Amino acid sequence: MDKLIITSADPMGAAIYDYYKSGKADRLIVRSSMFEDDEIPVKDLFRTFDQMPQLERLALMQAKGRILDVGAGSGCHSLALMGMGKETVAIDISPLSVKVMQERGIDAHLVDFYDESFDARFDTVLMLMNGTGIIGTLDNMGPFFDRIKRLLNEGGSLIIDSSDLSYLYEEEDGSIMIDLADDYYGQIDYQMLYKDIAGEPFDWLYVDYETLAFHAEENGMKCELLSEGEHYDYLARITVRQ
Ligand code: SAH
Repeated sequence: MDKLIITSADPMGAAIYDYYKSGKADRLIVRSSMFEDDEIPVKDLFRTFDQMPQLERLALMQAKGRILDVGAGSGCHSLALMGMGKETVAIDISPLSVKVMQERGIDAHLVDFYDESFDARFDTVLMLMNGTGIIGTLDNMGPFFDRIKRLLNEGGSLIIDSSDLSYLYEEEDGSIMIDLADDYYGQIDYQMLYKDIAGEPFDWLYVDYETLAFHAEENGMKCELLSEGEHYDYLARITVRQ
């Protein structure tokens, strides 16, 4: 019978699980009211250090001490860190992803980043593949930074990547048309689909560096641009101000 299951389903986890078990997966579709359907190649979620973009490799090299990989997915970054001899813990809200990570030998836990009962501390919190996505909307910067401060040891830092989506609004003459009455332009609604599994829609924030740095400062933290990529993407380090 052909039916669409709509529960708090785990489409990305199912794709990761299939790929881990069989070396292949169906199409993992990303839907948004703002764009055409897009697809995440599931194989890319299993990228090795050598297959990672330069910004991600830099992030892994900069990570030190006890590291928390937030929204770790298949665990690709955690595994690379472990390969470098670095102490790493991974969390994700996708049950099947956590199961795969545990089978891959990662110290992985089914934990929501915003769950205050998870009160361990780390020297580095790592959030990669548009790590700012978990912030959801600009309104949520305060609660986000509160959690980061609770998770970091003194002197610790958050290493996070994102992209400035303003290029999507560029006119032919190079000017950028943004309606200031609208929500912030990097605030995207997404839904993931895999086979007959449809996930709950969620907000996923892409944020330009200046806006991220402004909110970090507002929340008592110091923001530093570590590197810029080739497609409006960047890597930042955010540290608690001493
Ligand atoms: N970092 C991985 C996966 C990125 S996809 C990589 O680079 O390949 C984003 C991941 O964040 C998904 O696995 C999703 O389940 C997880 N996620 C989303 N919201 C979360 C939250 N509130 N707490 C923990 N993980 C979350």
